[in-house]
Amino acid sequence: MPADAASYPTATAGVDFDVIVVGAGIMGSCAAHAASSRGARVLLLERFAPLHSLGSSHGESRTIRDAYPKAHYPPMVRLARRLWRDAEADSGRRVLTATPHLTLGPRGDPALLAAVRNGGASEKDLANQKWGAAFRVPDGWVAAVSELGGGVLNATKAVSMFQSLAVNKGAVIKHNAEVVGIVRKEGEPGIWVKTSDGEEFHGAKCIVTAGAWTRKLVGSVTGGALELPIQPLHMLVLYWKIKPGRERELSAEAGFPTFSSYGDPHVYSTPSLELPGLIKINYDHGPPCDPDGCREEWSSGGAAERVAGWIEEFMPGHVETAGGPVVQYSCLYSMTPDKDFVIDFLGGEFGEDVVIGAGFSGHGFKMGPAVGMILAEMAIDGEAKTAAEAGVELRHFSINRF
Ligand SMILES: Cc1cc2nc3c(=O)[nH]c(=O)nc-3n(C[C@H](O)[C@H](O)[C@H](O)COP(=O)(O)OP(=O)(O)OC[C@H]3O[C@@H](n4cnc5c(N)ncnc54)[C@H](O)[C@@H]3O)c2cc1C
Repeated sequence: MPADAASYPTATAGVDFDVIVVGAGIMGSCAAHAASSRGARVLLLERFAPLHSLGSSHGESRTIRDAYPKAHYPPMVRLARRLWRDAEADSGRRVLTATPHLTLGPRGDPALLAAVRNGGASEKDLANQKWGAAFRVPDGWVAAVSELGGGVLNATKAVSMFQSLAVNKGAVIKHNAEVVGIVRKEGEPGIWVKTSDGEEFHGAKCIVTAGAWTRKLVGSVTGGALELPIQPLHMLVLYWKIKPGRERELSAEAGFPTFSSYGDPHVYSTPSLELPGLIKINYDHGPPCDPDGCREEWSSGGAAERVAGWIEEFMPGHVETAGGPVVQYSCLYSMTPDKDFVIDFLGGEFGEDVVIGAGFSGHGFKMGPAVGMILAEMAIDGEAKTAAEAGVELRHFSINRF
């Protein structure tokens, strides 16, 4: 029986699980938590080991920011902030450190100006900010700050938190279980989910959150009928040494902001926090890759060199570039052509029984709890009421736009 049958509308008879989630990154973990919190019997299947680092949701930090060029994201960020805090309170863990957010870039960049507007930021003379001396802002550039508009999320700890919360609500997580098929069987309700070692699981609904593998999995499940234009990119996470004596100034504890610098190269950063004396500054682009290919052969796209050049121009007195980044590791973006997410029913023979959450295009982590709630409500209720109440417009994320 569902733990909270009052809020679980239609437990389907004759299936073992109400919701089967494929992929235990941040989106799948949040969806499993949201569904199990509703009393659904949930199975979360993950092809790799617990908290692995082969997808998109591992590492020490992700930025949360309200400053978005597209106005349809801030409502989802606001919903997510509320759900991040709820999850922290429920678990007794802390994964979100609030910071200011700085948006920098050429005044003529319309995306930057829209992000400043949508994020409720205001232009500042950085000379008046306690951390402002870290930046050299050229003439013709905008520097806008939102005091409560940023934050750092500890990525791996956040995934762990949502998985623990889901398990506490009765969800079952199965690792090293690669899903190779999602099928219907004649005369039987719901869907069957098959793994590469021959196991089969029977569920009423399925949520697919397979990150960079979504295009391949959906292509194979639909027999090639649906090729989602989701392109995996190889990204490098880069941590740089802070110059001696500047370590505290650039720390989250001292109020240093998360920041995005528009223009070419577009870089973004989280303040020094989990790795003392180091600051993360990344390049917001990378070369295409095959997530199943040989990782040693993946190109870096010159990311470290581009960021080093940016640092020399804009933060030369505070961050060391000699010798390159001190820590670097790989991560995957799942890019759609318009950088908008894919959140929709699969349709076709699966109708509304399979829901897809993918294509998070390098900016989804912050919205994980909101996306998880949306996917769970779509699977359980056929509609995402919480999102609608929060002003999130799901039409931007439909499969049909491609
Ligand atoms: C370098 C980098 C920096 C980023 N910075 C930010 C940031 O500052 N702010 C922000 O909001 N976002 C950021 N993002 C984006 C964010 O991290 C992603 O949008 C988010 O993690 C995507 O989560 P996901 O669950 O969709 O994918 P994943 O985390 O990849 O999870 C998908 C899971 O599905 C599993 N899987 C795949 N196929 C199968 C299968 N067939 N069977 C079973 N399991 C399967 C995979 O193993 C994986 O665990 C960043 C991403 C990167 C790479």
